[in-house]
Amino acid sequence: ADKSADIDVSWFNAEISDEFRQRNDRIRDLDHAVERGEIESHFQPLIDIRTGRTAGFEALARWHRPAEGMVRPDEFIALAEEYGQINMIGEEILRQACRTAAGWGDGGPFVSVNVSPIQLQDPTFPSMVARVLAETGLPGQRLELEITENALIKDLDAVSWRLECLRELGISIAIDDFGTGYSSLSLLTKVPFSRLKIDQSFIRDFGRTRESTIIVDTMIGIAERLGLMITAEGIENAGIAALLAGRSAMLGQGYLFSKPVPAPETTDMVSRYWTA
Ligand code: C2E
Ligand code: CA
Ligand code: CA
Ligand code: CA
Repeated sequence: ADKSADIDVSWFNAEISDEFRQRNDRIRDLDHAVERGEIESHFQPLIDIRTGRTAGFEALARWHRPAEGMVRPDEFIALAEEYGQINMIGEEILRQACRTAAGWGDGGPFVSVNVSPIQLQDPTFPSMVARVLAETGLPGQRLELEITENALIKDLDAVSWRLECLRELGISIAIDDFGTGYSSLSLLTKVPFSRLKIDQSFIRDFGRTRESTIIVDTMIGIAERLGLMITAEGIENAGIAALLAGRSAMLGQGYLFSKPVPAPETTDMVSRYWTA
């Protein structure tokens, strides 16, 4: 045989198998992450940008994986969706979020929890949420669930029905990452939303590029006309906060105010008034 035709690919294979191994290890470890207490919700404040009042917090999942430290959701939520752990993780985050929010006191801020499209495929999802509210004592009126447009691609009728059941519990529904998914505007009228979350990719360039300014202005107009509340995500500087405040009443979320923090650090933020 002609040996010169053999290219040395061992370095290449080694790299691939490293990545492959890390992925497989994470998938395996996700099976036990909840029972081992490694999943923790952090909280990022949602601020009324006209008054500075803390109106709510978004719960954001973190995974403390002993082998590598804190893993961001971008690196494990999709895996958990693919390999079946998302229902368990979603329930754990919901429970921690409701327990923490109950601790903010009667009439305290609401908590907003991300829900994966996979969770909404589960017929028992609404009863699970009702159980967690009962266990933690949080009134449904102080819980918001964030769903993405992609949750509505499959089984729209069944999903809308489940959202309707949740609304009966006093829970409100927000559409997350608005404008980045595949849905059509007509979905907004078919599903019982009460809030629109404008994605940070649009907010970042608001007032800076013509396109983003038009898109954000249009989304605000749609929300106002449909009677939806608004949250603007990814506010990183005071200039953008001021521009948005001039445009409409809304909640603002972003590093300008605070990064997501562990539950104990929310205590000081609950009754805080923020000045931009
Ligand atoms: P998201 O729902 O759009 O959450 C907002 C993300 O933007 C968070 O990233 C937050 O830390 C980040 N962020 C907030 N303010 C700023 C800012 O001013 N600048 C920048 N550059 N980023 C900002 P995080 O915590 O890494 O979460 C990433 C995504 O993972 C979330 O995006 C959400 O889609 C998903 N996720 C997080 N927790 C959960 C969960 O419990 N369940 C599910 N299904 N998905 C989750
Ligand atoms: Ca979200
Ligand atoms: Ca979002
Ligand atoms: Ca986003």
